[in-house]
Parts: sequence; C-alpha cells; structure tokens
Amino acid sequence: MDTHNPLLETWSTPFALPPFETIESTHFLPAFEAAMREHDAEIWVIVHNSQAPDYANTIDALERAGQTLNKVGGVFWNLASTDSNEDLRAIERDVSPLLARHYTAISLNAELFARVATLYQNRASLTMSDEQARLLELTYKSFVRTGALLRGADRARYAEIAEKLASLEAQFAQNVLADESSFVMELDEADLAGLPADVKAAAAQTAAERKTTKAFALTLSRSSVEPYLSHGERRDLREDLFKAWIARGAHPGTTDNRPLIVEILALRQERSQLLGYATFADYKLEPTMAGAPQAALDLLDSVWRPARAKASEECAGLQAVADLQGANFKIAAHDWRFYAEKLRRERYDLDQGALSAYFQLDRMIDAAFYCAERLFGLRFLARDDLPTYHPDVRGYEVVDRKGGHVAIFLGDYYARSSKRSGAWMSNFRGQKKLDGDVRPIVVNVMNFPKPSPDRPTLLTLTEITTLFHEFGHALHGMLSDVVYPSMSGTATPTDFVEFPSQLYEHWALRPEILQRFALHSETGAPIPSKMIDRIMEARHFNQGFATVEFCASAYVDFLIHSRTKAADDIEATERDILQEIAMPQEIVPRHGAPHFSHIFSSESYAAGYYSYLWSEALDADGFAAFEEAGDLFDPAVAKRLHDYVYAAGNRRDPKDAYALFRGRPPRFDALLRKKGLA
Ligand SMILES: [Zn+2]
Repeated sequence: MDTHNPLLETWSTPFALPPFETIESTHFLPAFEAAMREHDAEIWVIVHNSQAPDYANTIDALERAGQTLNKVGGVFWNLASTDSNEDLRAIERDVSPLLARHYTAISLNAELFARVATLYQNRASLTMSDEQARLLELTYKSFVRTGALLRGADRARYAEIAEKLASLEAQFAQNVLADESSFVMELDEADLAGLPADVKAAAAQTAAERKTTKAFALTLSRSSVEPYLSHGERRDLREDLFKAWIARGAHPGTTDNRPLIVEILALRQERSQLLGYATFADYKLEPTMAGAPQAALDLLDSVWRPARAKASEECAGLQAVADLQGANFKIAAHDWRFYAEKLRRERYDLDQGALSAYFQLDRMIDAAFYCAERLFGLRFLARDDLPTYHPDVRGYEVVDRKGGHVAIFLGDYYARSSKRSGAWMSNFRGQKKLDGDVRPIVVNVMNFPKPSPDRPTLLTLTEITTLFHEFGHALHGMLSDVVYPSMSGTATPTDFVEFPSQLYEHWALRPEILQRFALHSETGAPIPSKMIDRIMEARHFNQGFATVEFCASAYVDFLIHSRTKAADDIEATERDILQEIAMPQEIVPRHGAPHFSHIFSSESYAAGYYSYLWSEALDADGFAAFEEAGDLFDPAVAKRLHDYVYAAGNRRDPKDAYALFRGRPPRFDALLRKKGLA
C-alpha cells in the first residue's frame, strides 16, 4: 500500500502553497490522525519538561505545537466550504468530533494547565513584551474558559458536551448546504419578465450547469434569489422562491435543523453553567470589546427604534407604488425588494440593471486592489503558476512598495454547487514570526454568477460592498505582523474583527473610485457623474429595511442565547422574540434560525451576530478620521490604521488599538448618521 501522503510532506510548491493536484480526499483522515498524534507528542514534551515552567518552554512551545494539524486543517476546512463532495462531507462528520475531543483533551490537561497557571500567577515578575503579556493572559483565560478549572464529573461532562456540539454544528452546516444544493427552480423565458439581461444570462447558465429541462433556473444562493426578488414580475414565483429560501434547514426529514438547534442550545447553556456563567451570552461576551451582554443589547436597542420607524415609512412608500400600479394586496415580505427596486428607480432614476453594466467584477477587484495600494502600498501581481484547488480560483502574489513579499492572495469568486453560500475570508496559512518570517496565504470566497463567453460578471451595489468587505478581512490577514500564530491576523474578538472589513466598505462607492473603475462593460465609458451623484443620494435608501432585517437576527441570536432554560421549540421561541421586539410583519429576519449558519454551524458568531453592528459603529466613527483629514487616503491616518489595526492582529486590547488609531475612544453617534437614521 502506498502510504505517501502529500498533506504530511514539506511542500515544495511556489510559496509552499498546498500541492492541491496531488491531494486526494483519502489523504485527509490519516493526515488528521497523524497530525493529532504529533500534536499530542508535542504537548507531552511540554508537560514532561523537568525544568520549571518559563515562557519559552511553555507558552512558546504551546504556540509551536500543532503546526501540522493547522496545515492539514487549513486545506481541509477551506475545501469543505468551497469545493465539497460526498467524500469530504463524510470526513467532516467523522473528523469534527475527533478534533473536538483532541482539543478538549489539551484544554483539560491538568499538568499543562498547571504550568500555564504558574506563569500567569507569576506574571508580574516575568520580563515580557506587550504581545507576550497579552498572549499569556489570553492563554490562561482560554484554558479556564474551556474547562481547565473543572473537577471530577463536571470535567467529564464538559468534554462530552464539547464533542457532541462539534458534531451537531458540522451536521447543521451540512444540512443547510444540502437544502441549498438540492433546490432548483426551473423557469421559462416568460417567467423572467422584468429581469435585467445579466440576471437572465446567469439564470440560463445555472440551467446549463444543472442540466434542467427548462431553459432557465434559479438556486437558493443569495446571488440567485435576491435579483429575482428585486425584479421578477411574477408575484407567485417570487413568493415560491422566497418561501423556499427562508425554509432552508426547516424541512422535515434528514436535513431538518430544528431538532439540532434545540440540542445545540441546551448543550451550550449547560456548558456555560458548568463554567460558572448564568447564560451562554454571559460566557460569550466576556472576552469581547462589548464586555457584557447589556452593552451589546444597549447598542441594538439604540438602533432598533429609529430603524423600525424608518422601515414603517419605507413600507408606506412601497405600498403607494404598488397601489398606483393597481396592486390589490398588502406588501408582503416577498414584495419588499421588488417594490423597493421600483421606488429606487423612480426616486433616484437608478435602475439596478443599467447600473450594474458599469460594475464589472474584474474592475471592482482592481478597485479593491487600488485602495490597498493607496492606503498601504500593496501591489497584487497575478500569477498563473500558483497551484489552486479549482480552475476558477485566481492567484496573486502581494508585494509591498519595495517589491518585498507580503502574502499570497487567492480569489474564488464564482458560485458553484459544491460551495456553501455567502461570502467569506479564510486562510490556508496564517502569519507568524515565532521561528522566522512566515507570510500568510489568504483566500476570499464569493458566490457571484460566473461570466459567460459574451458577458462579464456584473455586480450590484450590495455585491460590491461585499467584495470590499471580505477584502478588508483579507487585508487584516495579509498585513498581519505579529510574533505569535494565535495572535495573528483576524484572531481578534468578533465585535472588533468586523471593523477592518466594514471600514474597507467605505471606499467602495466613493466618487473617486467609481470614476476610475466603474466602466461600462460594453462601451468602456466611465460611469456618468450624474449617476454617481444619485448613488450617493440613494445610499440611505431602504436602510430601515436593511437595519430591521439585520437587527431582528441579532436579537434572535442574542435572546435565545440569554435564557437560563434553553428553547425546546425553536420556531415558537423565534416567533415569541420577534413579537417581543415588535417585528414589522412585512420583513423577515435576515437569517431564520434553521439556516442561521453564523451562529449554529460553529460557535464563532453565536451570541455574537451583534458584532457587525458593533463594528459598524466603529467603522462609521473610524472612517470619519479620513474625512476629517480631507483625504480618503491620508497617509498619516492610513499609517495609524495599518500599525494599530490591520497589522496588529490581537496584540492589543481592541479598545486600546482603536484609541491609538483614532486618537480617542470610539464615539457611537456616527452610526445613526451613517445609516440615515439620526
Ligand atoms: Zn465580515
């Protein structure tokens, strides 16, 4: 038998990228097992060191341990989201509980914790850099937060819960993907009335890919659903599509996420209590910038009222448009986007279709690169010779002003059925300087429609914002300049991590950028300045809706995780919460619980969906620094932004990092102004 496993070898590819071509799905499980054994052996050496614990033999050694596991996981988890198949899904189900057990055993290793605790107790007498001091504190607290102080039966139960949660969360994500990829709505030409040409072209392409009987098809990817909801004249089809979209994860049968959610919530609550917290939200908020549930709730409350009032005004406006066209119904959730689009066109003379002709994906990627060059001196060199995991993936070497290597950036922009929906940034390798300068490999993943031979991919304004958002995360990963791997890049609290990404959105639709990069896909003519003016005027349009949609999900997330007794019927609980906050009937939350992957397919955003709003308060205040300087690329502000935010990883407490960048603590009043809700 050939035991050769490329995942466990040194990679001699350019920039030591994973040798994707030689990796088979059968390599993963043995590689994970070998890497976990190696990690265990490394931990054993730390624990059995006869020397008294010091920083080097304990914290440094811990940071060095598990590199192979990170390397294998880096490849696996990226592929499991971007190019999955039945083999990878089976491995994911098998390996998730194994990994949970592995990491739990480390966090519950009493001798290991004793060494960390000794250092932590003696921290005043240690000579450490600021980064080292923070790492020691975070390491100690992370052990405590993952059960190190538990004894006896509690300890065993903690381990059991961690493992069970990992399987449930993996299953949750798979169920959403299964519901998304099994659905296809087949359409005839006549069903497409109202759709812009590029949306029709995308639907034709989907039909070709899915080999449907009819000539056009829609999927449940956001980039397929939203355009139809915005333009499709057929109200009955909009309703069907919308219903399928919001029912993801809520179909009786093998992919039903509702019973999983009940179990996940109960286990999270039980574990929080074991660890001494009243609720999961208390546990989760402790290490964040908000610091405690009340601070996050206060922010939500401060936005909710004005957002609801605005949405109610907006709804009246939409109803008027519908009535004028002889509609004999009240605006429903599946009508909102459609009539909003009509009203937008009427009020600002902005037609999404005509507008999109100016927003070619490739030019918008150039725009994102251009801003990074102006702000941080980065250049993106396209490289055809880099190994990638799918032919659609583009590879770039990122270099600094002097041509020095900064990072590898991979752009994976097109939707496909093997990819989960949404948009995200991830990495194959993080930055670190613990043993020599290791530069990162960062990936941006989107779900934009693939171009056809005669049509480029055209983006909506929202999609452009998403592109810049994920690119902001990518910069946070690529510019990272810290010593320790666990402090690197985006490894910051979740309510701070959205700050660099959301801040970057501010550059996307500025006139300076549009004049240069919004070029008509057929004529090459730059976007007319009148159109830019209207984009600027329309930027608060429908903000009531968007804010209500978001906040509703944030409330549901927060409140279901704030109960001492976990929900036993998630749909009833969700309904109760929406009633409690007086949710407008014409809007549904951006994510219904059964497909709310942010909070159920892993724990990272659980009781943390508010983070986007928190970070938005920061980005509104943060971008004003450039406006006050009178230059979108002001070098001095950009340098502070680089040094204290994008390059700083988790080296400092986010409050301090922000204050160093801004010259003062954040002020949250800019948020309502930014949203036009003031
Ligand atoms: Zn983000």
